[in-house]
Amino acid sequence: MNVEEVDILIIGAGPSGAVAAGYLQKQGVKIKVVEKSRFPRIVVGESLIPRVMDHFDEAGLFDALDAQGFEKKFGARFIRGEDICIFDFSDKFSPGWDWTWQIPRADFDLEMANELIRKGVDLQFETEVIDVQFMDEMSVTIARNKEGLETTIKANFLIDCSGYGRVLPRMLNLDQPSRLSPHSAIFSHVRDVNRPVGEEGSLISFDILETQVWLWVIPFSNGNTSVGIVGPTSFIDNLGADTTVALNKAIQLSDYYVKRFGDLPFIFEPRKLSNYSTAVSKMYGKGYALTGNSSEFLDPVFSSGVCFATESGILAAKLALRQVRGETVDWQSEFEDYMKGGIAVFTTYIQEWYTGNLQELFYHRPENPEVKRSICAILAGYVWDRNNPFVVKHDRAVKNLAHLIRMSKGEQYDSLC
Ligand SMILES: Cc1cc2nc3c(=O)[nH]c(=O)nc-3n(C[C@H](O)[C@H](O)[C@H](O)COP(=O)(O)OP(=O)(O)OC[C@H]3O[C@@H](n4cnc5c(N)ncnc54)[C@H](O)[C@@H]3O)c2cc1C
Repeated sequence: MNVEEVDILIIGAGPSGAVAAGYLQKQGVKIKVVEKSRFPRIVVGESLIPRVMDHFDEAGLFDALDAQGFEKKFGARFIRGEDICIFDFSDKFSPGWDWTWQIPRADFDLEMANELIRKGVDLQFETEVIDVQFMDEMSVTIARNKEGLETTIKANFLIDCSGYGRVLPRMLNLDQPSRLSPHSAIFSHVRDVNRPVGEEGSLISFDILETQVWLWVIPFSNGNTSVGIVGPTSFIDNLGADTTVALNKAIQLSDYYVKRFGDLPFIFEPRKLSNYSTAVSKMYGKGYALTGNSSEFLDPVFSSGVCFATESGILAAKLALRQVRGETVDWQSEFEDYMKGGIAVFTTYIQEWYTGNLQELFYHRPENPEVKRSICAILAGYVWDRNNPFVVKHDRAVKNLAHLIRMSKGEQYDSLC
């Protein structure tokens, strides 16, 4: 059996692992990335939010990604029957990026991996972590490649970016039920031959079919568009076991999109993701940290998944670097408490979306520009900005405003904010 020694081992080359690896490679520590699949591989998470651009930039991946010409995303549109609410990331409360990308993740993740390899990262595809043992802070990982060859990798720190692989949560019994109610999704891509020219064709949109059921439409620069349906698990299951029939049925429910997508064949058999929310009892331990979906995944409605993955990936990388260089790191406050602060904000907005309270605010007219700018900053991923009153008072702001709007239907709500 091969034996290797590294400073930091990263499991998984999705967005979380990629930004961690990109950042650490620049710092000159010895790292290794092991990735179970062969890229490109189909994966969901195609609508990004601006905060991720900070992470790709810091990880040295921005230029390579930008050169791919992915569709630029400047905001998002929420459709509910005749009502439309558009967020424009250039008009938000917090400073920061005002655009990002909407991306076929297969191509995007492949480009990140290729760029890491070009930068000299030791990234091994088709190599699956099958066991990890800890000896104090040092970890001993067994990884098996597709030929069945096993390698022992000793590392001073381990960052688990394995997404739904959830390597350490499973091995160390850290899985915990999510606080969110069970939702599921079905998605695929179509060749978007009926795409209108101009903004209407390229705008990322969420068509709300019922308070808890919505269709996503994510156009890509390669001419394909991702279409997905999200709802309570019972709703998605009732669409039927055949995912092609089920997604077709869902598209028929959208007055707005049925003409554009109703007759188009799917590029791949629609994928179903059942009860997708995940959580863990703790996000770190002696010699390891959990990031991205390996720790927590909430809900796709505000496209927060990749942002959480890259925020936690790059932060874990920075802290791990300090630790292997001999500094003491307070993982509780510097990592878990910080990450949980952002998770709490996103959780509130997701919960308030599904109660209908946030939708009440989105579609109330006239719009209150200050409220909208504050919420727009949250949708852009700036959930750690404590200057934003809608971050600080997230647990009350939306609920109270929606309550007041309902009580005073027909009245202005600017004086109430
Ligand atoms: C229905 C749905 C829609 C979504 N839509 C969006 C969206 O629009 N925008 C958004 O930002 N997010 C979205 N997400 C969330 C997004 O998919 C994830 O949050 C994001 O991909 C997490 O990145 P990651 O790097 O943590 O994990 P991943 O991208 O899943 O990468 C993990 C990698 O680890 C590898 N791995 C797993 N096990 C092992 C092992 N044992 N050994 C070695 N490697 C391993 C996997 O092969 C994989 O490549 C959505 C999620 C769902 C369920």
